[in-house]
Amino acid sequence: MTTHPAYSIDRVPIEEEQQTLTTEAVYTARVPVKQTSAMLKLCQRLPPLTNLAHIKRVRASQPADAVDVVLCQCAKISLDALQEKLPEGTAVSTHQVPMTMPYTRAQFDEWKAVWPVTFRPPLQLRELQPLDPAEQAYVERMLALAAAQQKEMCSGARRVGVVVADPRSPEEEPVAQACDMRASGNPLRHAVMECIGQVAAAELRRRKRPAADAGYLCAGLDVFSTKEPCVMCCMALVHSRVGRLFFVDSDAAGGGISRYALHARKALNHHFTTYHCRPAPASAPRDAAAPQP
Ligand SMILES: [Zn+2]
Repeated sequence: MTTHPAYSIDRVPIEEEQQTLTTEAVYTARVPVKQTSAMLKLCQRLPPLTNLAHIKRVRASQPADAVDVVLCQCAKISLDALQEKLPEGTAVSTHQVPMTMPYTRAQFDEWKAVWPVTFRPPLQLRELQPLDPAEQAYVERMLALAAAQQKEMCSGARRVGVVVADPRSPEEEPVAQACDMRASGNPLRHAVMECIGQVAAAELRRRKRPAADAGYLCAGLDVFSTKEPCVMCCMALVHSRVGRLFFVDSDAAGGGISRYALHARKALNHHFTTYHCRPAPASAPRDAAAPQP
C-alpha cells in the first residue's frame, strides 16, 4: 500500500504576513557621529514620532564618520518651522521609512532596504512547526471522521461535518463530533456550535469533580470541519480559545476566514492557526512507473 496523502494541507497566512510595504516621509539630519547624542537630545523638542517604534532612529551614512538621524514626521511640522528649531546649517532632507513593523523574514529584507527597522515576528509565527508525517496522519484521520459526520447524519440539512480533537492524545477518539442541526428548527445549531456545546457539557461534568481547574473551553484543541466555518462559528472558536482549525471546502462568500481572517485579526484577543486542507490529486496510475513483478 502506498501512503499517498489524501490532503495537501496549507496554513492560511495571518494578516501580518500579507501586508505590503507602505512608507511615510520623515525629516532626517546628517551629522557627524560625535554629534549623534546632541542631535537626539534636540529631537526631544520636536513633535514625537507616532507609530514608528519599529524604525531605527539613527543609521550609518556616508562619509563613514556621519550618521542620518530621524528628526520627526513630515506631516507634523513644516520644513521652515523645523529649521528654526535646529542649529544653523543643519543638513535636513526628507526620507521615506516603513510605516509598519516587518513580520516575516522577506518583509524584513524588503523594509530594511528602505530604512533600518527592528524585526520581531509574532509569537504565533515563531512557534510554528511544519506538520510532520504523524501529524498529517492524525489530521487526515480526523478529517475522515468529519466527512463521516457530514455523510451519515445530515439528510436535508446543510452538509457540514465537524469534529474536535485533542492533539495531545492523537490516537484517541474526538472529544466532540457533530453535523449541521439547523433542520431541527434552531438556526444557530451549526456543526461547530454543536461541537462546542458538547465540549461545554463534558467540561461541566468534569468541573463537578473536586480539584478540577477551570480554563478556557477549547484551549489547545483542534477543530476539523468539512467546510470553512461561518463568521458566527469563527467567533465562537475565538471565544473558546481553540488551538487550530483545519477545514476542507473554503467559502469565499460567507466564510469567517476567507472574508474576515478571523483566525488572526490583530484586533481580536485570541488567534488560532488555520489550515486549508485541499483533497490531493489522485496519485499517478499504478502501471505508469511501477516495475512489473
Ligand atoms: Zn457557522
